[in-house]
Amino acid sequence: MNRKDFLKTMAILPIGAAAMKLSSLKTAVDTFGPTERMPVLFLGHGNPMNALADNNFTQGFQQVAKTLPKPRAILCISAHWETKGTFVTAMQKPPTIHDFGGFPQALFDVQYPAPGSPELALETQKLITSTSVGLDNSWGLDHGCWTVVKFLYPNADIPVIEMSIDYTQPASYHYELGKELAALRRKGVLIVGSGNTVHNLRLAAWDKMMVPGYAFEWAHIANEKMKSMILNNDHKSLIQFDKQGREFELAVPTPEHYLPLLYILSLQEKDEKATVFNDELVAGSLNMMSVKIDKA
Ligand code: ZN
Repeated sequence: MNRKDFLKTMAILPIGAAAMKLSSLKTAVDTFGPTERMPVLFLGHGNPMNALADNNFTQGFQQVAKTLPKPRAILCISAHWETKGTFVTAMQKPPTIHDFGGFPQALFDVQYPAPGSPELALETQKLITSTSVGLDNSWGLDHGCWTVVKFLYPNADIPVIEMSIDYTQPASYHYELGKELAALRRKGVLIVGSGNTVHNLRLAAWDKMMVPGYAFEWAHIANEKMKSMILNNDHKSLIQFDKQGREFELAVPTPEHYLPLLYILSLQEKDEKATVFNDELVAGSLNMMSVKIDKA
């Protein structure tokens, strides 16, 4: 670790930790030594109430977790953290953020007390060179992150950081930025994008919420096209989602739930393939489709 990195590390540590010995700092950084390549995931999070449920979707998350090597840490790109510029959470103990309203108290009572990882925040900041990445101490884990990660790692024993989505930037920017995270996969870091591919809450048929697979025609068409593009590695068309016609316009009325998918696809390497799971439409205009990228 050079002096600049050391100073950066000290800057994000609480004052009480400033006395931390150099030797223990070195251990922290060594935490991210080389490993086998980790798969990457895009998880459709949908309704926050899934956090309290045992259903097809939550079982899908539990199933996929069984196929993964145990990560050292998780970096989550959530639809629910949009900022001007890019930030990573850098606190030791990220709070569970209940960033929603109108749900039962039981959902507000859920805590996901996974530790943070100031070391991974610093590592990510170093890795990304196309823009400056800010270290954040005010966010935490929003529901895009904790409502799904809790099913992967229910013991909350894997450190989690979030990376924000710069709302001022176009889709191609996010795809290119995602590529810069590639090295983390070989440092034992599980990169998770959390959003929804088809996500139009304004048009949702809430009264059909409990009808399995209920989908509007346009949502079904958009979903099938997106799935085909994902499975055929047609990332170019997916980046140009705003040029794919009316069904896509309805499926992606605002980009924040869609963009985490692009971060995940950008990390796909030549010998890897995408597989989908939880591919089910809900309330007419939402899809829970999730994607795993792993060795073909
Ligand atoms: Zn959401």
